[in-house]
Amino acid sequence: MTPPIRIDPATGLKAFATRAAKATEKIAGVGYMPVKDETLITLPPAPAGAVFNAEEQARYREYNQSRAGAADYITMEGQFSKYLEDVYSAPPVEREALTDDCDIVIIGAGFAAMLLWYKVREAGFRDVRVCEKGGDVGGTWYWNRYPGIACDVESYSYLPLLEEMGYYPTMKFASGFEIYEYCQKMAEKLDFYDRCLFHTTVDRTEWDEASARWIVSTDRGDRMRARVVVLANGSLTTPKLARIEGMETFKGEAFHTSRWNYHVDLKDKRVGIIGTGASAVQVVPEIAKVVKELYVFQRTPSTIDVRDQRMTTPDEIETWSKEPNWAKKRRERLARISSGRTALKGNDDYLSGKVDDYRGPRRTPERKLTPEELMQAQLNTNFRIMEQIRARIDAIVKDPKTAAALKPYYAYGCKRPTFHDEYLPTFNLPHVHLVDTAPVGVNRINEAGVVHDGVQYDLDVIIYATGFQWMGAGSFNMIVGRDGRSLRGKWAEEGVRTFLGLHSRGFPNLFILSGPQSGGGQFNFTRTMESQTDYVAWLLKTARERGNVLVDVSKEAEEAYSAHCREADLRTRPLRDCLSYYNGDGNAEPGSLAYYGGPEKWHEIRMQAQTTLDPYVFEQTAA
Ligand SMILES: Cc1cc2nc3c(=O)[nH]c(=O)nc-3n(C[C@H](O)[C@H](O)[C@H](O)COP(=O)(O)OP(=O)(O)OC[C@H]3O[C@@H](n4cnc5c(N)ncnc54)[C@H](O)[C@@H]3O)c2cc1C
Repeated sequence: MTPPIRIDPATGLKAFATRAAKATEKIAGVGYMPVKDETLITLPPAPAGAVFNAEEQARYREYNQSRAGAADYITMEGQFSKYLEDVYSAPPVEREALTDDCDIVIIGAGFAAMLLWYKVREAGFRDVRVCEKGGDVGGTWYWNRYPGIACDVESYSYLPLLEEMGYYPTMKFASGFEIYEYCQKMAEKLDFYDRCLFHTTVDRTEWDEASARWIVSTDRGDRMRARVVVLANGSLTTPKLARIEGMETFKGEAFHTSRWNYHVDLKDKRVGIIGTGASAVQVVPEIAKVVKELYVFQRTPSTIDVRDQRMTTPDEIETWSKEPNWAKKRRERLARISSGRTALKGNDDYLSGKVDDYRGPRRTPERKLTPEELMQAQLNTNFRIMEQIRARIDAIVKDPKTAAALKPYYAYGCKRPTFHDEYLPTFNLPHVHLVDTAPVGVNRINEAGVVHDGVQYDLDVIIYATGFQWMGAGSFNMIVGRDGRSLRGKWAEEGVRTFLGLHSRGFPNLFILSGPQSGGGQFNFTRTMESQTDYVAWLLKTARERGNVLVDVSKEAEEAYSAHCREADLRTRPLRDCLSYYNGDGNAEPGSLAYYGGPEKWHEIRMQAQTTLDPYVFEQTAA
């Protein structure tokens, strides 16, 4: 048997075999199959000329305000920590603790880490070590294995390194199970497994000025010393639970969608699912096929757009196999569909390069619009999309009360948009019940189930589809930089301060992937990550050319960039006027979470920095 830690004869570096075995064969699933019924895969036409007028604006405002303060979540600690357990892998592989030196430590083994490894390895950095909480690679796709899971961005553009891997996803929206297996294939082909310490959670990363190294401590007793640390620990990694009185008293089975318990057989059970975000929308149609009764507890509905799933055709594979960079080109075309509604009919011709535009004939305005007029035009377009989405509900859902409750009234895209063709018809089934808990949500659970508005819903199983902490600040607490100051502490005192979202002053040689204020892409995570990992690889090479100097950023660069993030957020705010995890349920400081300057602006700032090198502070070290 290969020892968990050995010396690689080719490089002289430590190589690891710490990948955990599967916990059970039950954890497997198939994809979301194409739907034939045209009425389910066709969006009603946009109401021509409809505008987001004062009356509609007031309706949206009231809808949002009624929900203000309703979002109240708890972290999974103490009695709730059981919901975080790794149910997918056998217990950790035994290994000795590491107290040695290495060049680069990456925290997390998802898409971001794999892309980064691919690029830094190409650039000649080999002494790279990856610490991962889970028992295998994949990140999001390791943890989330609920029935019905699939990507929402078309897989031809979402899956990274498709050309390099010579892989063609089987479906336009590949299942999570296929994506997870693809991650494993990538890890094998790229020798990524050798770099990974699985079942290893980093609990502290502390800067040591004397040695100019980061000390990386883990729950396995490691205390490794690294020249560079990269946080690739994801922005949707930490599951959260809604605070519901009495949840600990429930006597049945309960779990979170991101730790699906396949040992619980849902067949003929009374099941309640709490939450109707992106995960629930994919879960509900699948479990409705087996359960006896399904209660869907909804506070705020998602936007359910058309998915139009289809299989990849042999012709496509034939064409792509002859077209260099087919997926990269497609990803760039997709990025121009700014709302990410990739399933819409006609888009395929555009995405495959057969036609140059996806929007059809457009009117050229007679004069340049003022910023206010431009904003109103965008709001109107957005309103028409929402009208289509609401009309689709009326066209599919038979019960008018249920249809009314399923209609969202907020700007399209201000909550993660969802795409499904079986979710809405599920509510026509006699055993599926929508329980509208608007505006405050479920507020009591007892031994037997959920109580809402004085009605007791007896349940055998409760599934928490309550989502994740967005850009979980928890992980920033364990990063301690210069002067013993944590990243979280710095941001609590000064507000979130970064340059490009990737560095923060006082944390030399530390890079934050997909953290607050970071840009470079849009709704397609992989495009963002291509940009960010290119940047990190470039900067590591630049520092190496200067004698492996330390890289920090100047106060001025950080202040200017953070002010820009704030301004961009405030300027575009009317387009996202709702409560969602994107804006900390309405509580986030402007500019402190996602970047709203647009990918072009982010790249402009990045390219300027790469050309002038002005934002950087390069420091020679004795070490
Ligand atoms: C259900 C679901 C569907 C999604 N679908 C899409 C989609 O269609 N399109 C899209 O663009 N995006 C989608 N996303 C977003 C998705 O998270 C990203 O696309 C991408 O997979 C993130 O990759 P990552 O490597 O940055 O982070 P992750 O995949 O989250 O990986 C981070 C890893 O870091 C590990 N980690 C965290 N903290 C520590 C620590 N302290 N020590 C050690 N390890 C740690 C975690 O265990 C995790 O495995 C989806 C997200 C979810 C949850």
